[in-house]
Amino acid sequence: MAETTGTATPEAGSAANGWCHWHQGTSGTAVLITVIEQGSGPGAALYACAPCREQRRLVPYGKPS
Ligand SMILES: [Zn+2]
Repeated sequence: MAETTGTATPEAGSAANGWCHWHQGTSGTAVLITVIEQGSGPGAALYACAPCREQRRLVPYGKPS
Protein backbone atom coordinates (compact mmCIF):
# COMPACT_ATOMS: atom_id res chain seq x y z
CA MET A 1 0.00 0.00 0.00
CA ALA A 2 2.13 2.85 -1.20
CA GLU A 3 0.07 5.98 -0.99
CA THR A 4 1.82 9.08 -2.16
CA THR A 5 0.19 11.93 -0.32
CA GLY A 6 3.15 14.24 -0.57
CA THR A 7 1.82 16.10 -3.58
CA ALA A 8 -1.67 17.53 -3.53
CA THR A 9 -3.26 16.72 -6.82
CA PRO A 10 -6.60 18.54 -7.08
CA GLU A 11 -8.17 15.94 -9.30
CA ALA A 12 -9.47 12.48 -8.62
CA GLY A 13 -10.21 11.77 -5.01
CA SER A 14 -9.99 15.21 -3.50
CA ALA A 15 -13.08 16.54 -5.26
CA ALA A 16 -15.39 15.11 -2.66
CA ASN A 17 -13.81 16.65 0.38
CA GLY A 18 -17.08 18.35 1.27
CA TRP A 19 -15.69 21.76 2.07
CA CYS A 20 -16.74 25.10 0.59
CA HIS A 21 -14.08 27.78 0.74
CA TRP A 22 -16.57 30.53 -0.03
CA HIS A 23 -18.87 30.19 2.96
CA GLN A 24 -16.15 28.42 4.94
CA GLY A 25 -18.19 25.40 5.83
CA THR A 26 -18.89 21.83 4.97
CA SER A 27 -20.96 21.00 1.94
CA GLY A 28 -22.07 17.92 0.09
CA THR A 29 -22.08 19.70 -3.25
CA ALA A 30 -18.64 21.29 -3.23
CA VAL A 31 -16.67 21.01 -6.44
CA LEU A 32 -13.25 22.25 -7.43
CA ILE A 33 -13.35 25.80 -8.72
CA THR A 34 -9.77 26.89 -9.03
CA VAL A 35 -6.25 26.01 -8.08
CA ILE A 36 -3.90 28.65 -6.81
CA GLU A 37 -0.46 27.90 -8.16
CA GLN A 38 2.34 28.50 -5.74
CA GLY A 39 6.02 28.75 -6.47
CA SER A 40 6.96 26.11 -3.96
CA GLY A 41 4.92 23.47 -2.23
CA PRO A 42 1.49 22.22 -3.19
CA GLY A 43 -1.01 24.64 -4.66
CA ALA A 44 -4.18 25.54 -2.85
CA ALA A 45 -7.38 24.08 -4.25
CA LEU A 46 -10.56 26.07 -3.74
CA TYR A 47 -13.94 24.39 -3.64
CA ALA A 48 -17.40 25.92 -3.78
CA CYS A 49 -20.80 24.45 -3.05
CA ALA A 50 -23.81 24.73 -5.36
CA PRO A 51 -25.44 27.78 -3.68
CA CYS A 52 -22.16 29.67 -3.63
CA ARG A 53 -21.53 28.80 -7.27
CA GLU A 54 -24.93 30.18 -8.20
CA GLN A 55 -24.54 33.35 -6.17
CA ARG A 56 -21.08 34.13 -7.47
CA ARG A 57 -21.41 32.54 -10.87
CA LEU A 58 -18.46 30.29 -10.31
CA VAL A 59 -17.52 27.81 -12.98
CA PRO A 60 -16.14 24.42 -11.98
CA TYR A 61 -12.46 23.98 -12.68
CA GLY A 62 -11.64 22.65 -16.14
CA LYS A 63 -15.01 23.48 -17.65
CA PRO A 64 -15.24 26.01 -20.45
CA SER A 65 -17.21 29.04 -19.34
ZN1 LIG B 1 -20.65 27.55 -0.14
